[in-house]
Amino acid sequence: RARAAAQERYAVFNESMHNQALARLQLETDLRQAIRRGEFRLVYQPIVDLAADRVAGWEVLVRWRHPVRGMVSPLEFIGVAEDTGLIVPLGRWVLHEGCRQLAEWMAADPDGGPRFITVNVSARQFLDVQLVDEVERAMRDHGLRPGSLKLELTESTVMGDPAAAAGLLGRLRGLGIPIYLDDFGTGYSSLAYLHQLPLDGLKIDRSFVQRSGEMAVVQTIVALARSLGVVVVAEGIEEPAQLEALRAMGCEYGQGYLFAKPLEPEAVAATLRVPVPVVA
Ligand code: C2E
Ligand code: MG
Ligand code: MG
Ligand code: MG
Repeated sequence: RARAAAQERYAVFNESMHNQALARLQLETDLRQAIRRGEFRLVYQPIVDLAADRVAGWEVLVRWRHPVRGMVSPLEFIGVAEDTGLIVPLGRWVLHEGCRQLAEWMAADPDGGPRFITVNVSARQFLDVQLVDEVERAMRDHGLRPGSLKLELTESTVMGDPAAAAGLLGRLRGLGIPIYLDDFGTGYSSLAYLHQLPLDGLKIDRSFVQRSGEMAVVQTIVALARSLGVVVVAEGIEEPAQLEALRAMGCEYGQGYLFAKPLEPEAVAATLRVPVPVVA
C-alpha cells in the first residue's frame, strides 16, 4: 500500500513536471514566433520630477499580446527570453521602437514634450558584445540628443563582474547614455564598487517605498545617492503619504500608480501639446 501510494505520488509529481516542461517549451516556441509576427507592444510610465510636479521622462515597458492567451506579463516571459537568448533580438526591437517613439513625440512637442526615455536592459543583453553599437545606432537613426536615452540595469547585472561593467558603462557614458541602477536595494551592491561605477541614478525598489517600516532604508539610499552625486528615483508610489514622505526626504523623482500606470502610446500623445496647424 505504502509503495503504491508512493508510486502514485511519483506519477503525479512526474506528470506536473512534464506539464511544466511542455508549457515552457510552448512559451519558447511562441516567443520565437512573436518576434517575427510583431506581437510586442511598448507602454510608457511617467517618471515624475517630484519638486516641480512635472513629467521628466518615460520608462519603456514591453508588453506581449499573445494571440491566444491575451496580454502576457513581462515577469512571465523576460526570464525565458533571457535563458534562450531571445532577449537579444527582443531587446533590440524595444530599443529601436522606444527611440523612434521618443523622436516622434519630441517632434510633435519640441518645447514641452518628454525629454527622455529609459530602457530596461537585462543581464544577457549586457553581455551582448553588440550592445554599445546597437545603442549608438538607435540614437543616430532617430536623431536623439545625448541624455535622451537612458538605460536601466539591475544591481546583479552590474555587480556580477563590476570591473567589466565599469568599462562597458564608461563606453555608454561616452555616448551620452546615462545609466540608472534598477530595483536598487534588492541585490548586493558593493559600496566600494558603487563609487567606481559611472552611474547617473539609483531607482529605489518599490518594496522599500511601499512598506512604511522601510522608510529608513529609503532615507539611507537617498543619502547614498547624494554622496555618489547621482539622482534618485522612487518606484511604486501608490499612496499620497508615500509621496509626501519621499518629498520630505528630498527624493528627486518618482514613479507609480499614484501618478499613472504604464500608458499606451496614444494616451501619452494625448498628454502632449501637439501644435495646431496654421491654416492659410
Ligand atoms: P522594472 O523595470 O522594475 O519596472 C517596474 C515594474 O513595476 C513595471 O512592471 C511597472 O508596471 C510596475 N509598477 C510601476 N508602478 C507601480 C506601482 O505603483 N505599483 C506596482 N505594484 N507596480 C508598479 P512590468 O511592466 O510588469 O515589468 C516588470 C519587469 O519586467 C520590469 O521591472 C523589468 O525588469 C522587466 N521588463 C519590462 N519591460 C522590459 C524590457 O523592455 N526589457 C527588459 N530587459 N526587461 C523588461
Ligand atoms: Mg525598470
Ligand atoms: Mg524597477
Ligand atoms: Mg522591478
